[in-house]
Amino acid sequence: MTRTTRVCRALALLLITALAAVACGKPGSPPVKGPAQDKLPMFEVNKDFELPDSPTWRRAKERGYFVVGAKEDQPYLGEKDPASGQYTGFDIEIAKMVSAYLGLDPNRIQFKTIASANRETALQNGQIDYYVGTYTINDNRKKLVGFAGPYYMAGQSLLVRADEENIKGPQDLAGKRVCSASGSTPYQRIQEKFPEAILVAYDTYSVCVDNLLTYQVDAVTTDDAILIGFAAKLPDELKVVGEPFSEEPYGIGVPRHDNALRNAINDALEHGEKNGYWKQAYDATLGLSGVPAPTPPPIDRYPAS
Ligand code: GLU
Repeated sequence: MTRTTRVCRALALLLITALAAVACGKPGSPPVKGPAQDKLPMFEVNKDFELPDSPTWRRAKERGYFVVGAKEDQPYLGEKDPASGQYTGFDIEIAKMVSAYLGLDPNRIQFKTIASANRETALQNGQIDYYVGTYTINDNRKKLVGFAGPYYMAGQSLLVRADEENIKGPQDLAGKRVCSASGSTPYQRIQEKFPEAILVAYDTYSVCVDNLLTYQVDAVTTDDAILIGFAAKLPDELKVVGEPFSEEPYGIGVPRHDNALRNAINDALEHGEKNGYWKQAYDATLGLSGVPAPTPPPIDRYPAS
């Protein structure tokens, strides 16, 4: 055998091994359970829809598509594929459902990743038209932005390493390093109600999870919907513990004074909840983390102020 043949054979073997690893997954690695494209709902576009009273809608109509703020690192909720740049997840489907109802092609949405701490500013300065990304509706935020919804009810919970035995609820956090995202409601709640915990903040929960896996922190805290997704992807390494200890109603953030847009998005949510779109979206995304579809919470059409 010549040297070239030997090198070629070695390369061929390497290539086969690499292909097999891609096709079959590494032995022992968790199953890749991303949303299947063919299971996602097909949202029918409302062709004759008009919303002249909404400056945000008029701008988007002129552009031909919506610019939507989202998360890119939350399993089954809002995830961006680094190779294709595609976003998937429950929040992404909700954003598409809304776009279709408002008469614009859901497949043309331009998604922009916006971290928890930057959502209000992004809506205030017109960087995005609306925001769908595990965004809790509360009175403080309502002073800065408007909220359609809620379209889902989450609750604050704790994620720890699978072999952790001492942390079973927020009462066990004294002296422990607990990670959450800056500008989030779970961060604030730990600060106010569990001041003996040592709080560590990053921009995103995925960085918190990396810190948990490398023993830099002892727990990650945020909404159960987010944590269950991380645990479902690494079931041998992570677990969610205890009962949820807050209510986090997820809303769609809109510019503060665009009440026409807020009302129309509430109509879109109600329509999707009635005709099955909401459940199809849930089953094809967040449902994959193992929790059956709940009944969505009632929509809160609070008066304009
Ligand atoms: N729902 C909570 C919040 O809006 C936590 C999740 C998040 O940071 O997006 O603050």
